[in-house]
Amino acid sequence: MLIVFIGPPGAGKGTQAQRLASHLNVPHLSTGEMLRDAEESGTELGRKAAAFMKNGQLAPDELVVKIIGQRIEQPDCARGCLFDGFPRTINQAEELDRQLSLDQRALDLVLELHVEEDELVRRLLRRAKHADKPRADDTPEAIPKRLEVYRSLTQPVLEYYRARGLLREINGQGTPEQVFARIRDAVETRQSS
Ligand code: ADP
Repeated sequence: MLIVFIGPPGAGKGTQAQRLASHLNVPHLSTGEMLRDAEESGTELGRKAAAFMKNGQLAPDELVVKIIGQRIEQPDCARGCLFDGFPRTINQAEELDRQLSLDQRALDLVLELHVEEDELVRRLLRRAKHADKPRADDTPEAIPKRLEVYRSLTQPVLEYYRARGLLREINGQGTPEQVFARIRDAVETRQSS
């Protein structure tokens, strides 16, 4: 199964995506993690991305598309994978479709983890305050910027997938267990249809 997981900062997407990937036994492809790894290993790509990440902006499309493109060609993705944090722009979504179609593949499902914006702000402020080792993009100053980027660039991606009949909205309020149960239901309904 090829699944895309989309959600605003603070929605709990990382945790849920990891759980879903291990439940389905497919690789979890987080572009945020890949970019941070590249930054830590000091590669040129990592240095380029870091400049954007630290003030809440998106890394350039061609850079992200390139690392994802290389990753999905790996043998462990043959059975499927879970994209977390990608695509984040319409251009990335189109590129992903194009790359998959070269291998006669297509996405099966897109999950949107939905949380109201005032709740997101509360969660992000709490995270910024309590983190032992806050990430550069987890500061109170970066929060409005990251939400604005989500609203203007990533929300149109939801419409792109809705128009293709792939989108399922998941309510992201409640305990992590409640949220995961909703995700599992959405995936199972899709598998049996
Ligand atoms: P979150 O905390 O929302 O899960 P991520 O770990 O997914 O954040 O991403 C952290 C940062 O990495 C983003 O704010 C952005 O700068 C960069 N990034 C991650 N994925 C992408 C992408 N698909 N396109 C552009 N930039 C990305």
